[in-house]
Amino acid sequence: MIISIASGKGGTGKTTVAVSLALSIDNVQFLDCDVEEPNAHLFLKPRISRTEKACLLMPVVDETKCRLCGKCRDVCEYNAIAVLPASQTKNSHVLIFQNLCHGCGACSLLCPSNAIKEVDREIGVIEIGEKNDMEFIHGRLNIGEAMSPPVIRQVKKHISMTKSVIIDAPPGTSCPVISAVKGTDFCILVTEPTPFGLNDLILTVELLRKMNVQFGVIINRSDLGNDEVEMYCIKENIHVLMHIPFKKEIAAACSQGIPLVKAFPEYENSFRQLFIQIKELMKGNNHGKKS
Ligand code: SF4
Ligand code: SF4
Repeated sequence: MIISIASGKGGTGKTTVAVSLALSIDNVQFLDCDVEEPNAHLFLKPRISRTEKACLLMPVVDETKCRLCGKCRDVCEYNAIAVLPASQTKNSHVLIFQNLCHGCGACSLLCPSNAIKEVDREIGVIEIGEKNDMEFIHGRLNIGEAMSPPVIRQVKKHISMTKSVIIDAPPGTSCPVISAVKGTDFCILVTEPTPFGLNDLILTVELLRKMNVQFGVIINRSDLGNDEVEMYCIKENIHVLMHIPFKKEIAAACSQGIPLVKAFPEYENSFRQLFIQIKELMKGNNHGKKS
């Protein structure tokens, strides 16, 4: 089973939940796909045993073959290619904006002159290790790089179908979250009972429904704020899987890199029950709606 943990915005306690769930069940593989800012390792403290380069296939134009037809520019959906006219210092040529290129390969495929080849460009690293019997993998996007989905996909290539896979997804509702959550069996949405929390929860629920991924909600700091998140979940028939009340001691433990279930062992049973609850919900397979 593959469970992703996501939230519409950062700082809701997503990693706290992901790490706590992973530490409460057996035979776990933990994937930190928040590759722009991975921080699960700060709590799990895995021993990293090997690394892999994370690369994106990047087009390179052979100017001796290019006829400046512009087909590569026209086909690029990300506006990553320009055909520049001649200047005083340089002849007409094709310019590729590396930070806009998604490495989709369309330009090299459609170039009629076979003038584009693809080369690996390193954009990050994948680190693989373990913590006790838990397998741990995370990706790190290089500073200044914009394309996290290829790094996330490379982390997910390591998914083991013989384990319970926990994926810590990036926050938000854009491409990186889609890359992390896609193909997972269930998504836990972590939110907080504030107007911002509700706004981002609504966006994430819409996204997951479009993606057809089953989900439930955990309300963190549940005794603060208002009841609008709770009312929204009732109205939308969404399972609220767990409430985690605010405690200064929880915040203090997290700030020291101590997982919630280690600081408060009574939570271990709650997370074990959460796992059982998710398995039961999946049997019903009602895509986040209560039966
Ligand atoms: S499609 Fe090929 S030949 Fe045409 S401009 Fe691009 S690189 Fe040059
Ligand atoms: S590989 Fe795709 S995204 Fe990159 S320049 Fe070519 S068409 Fe554009």
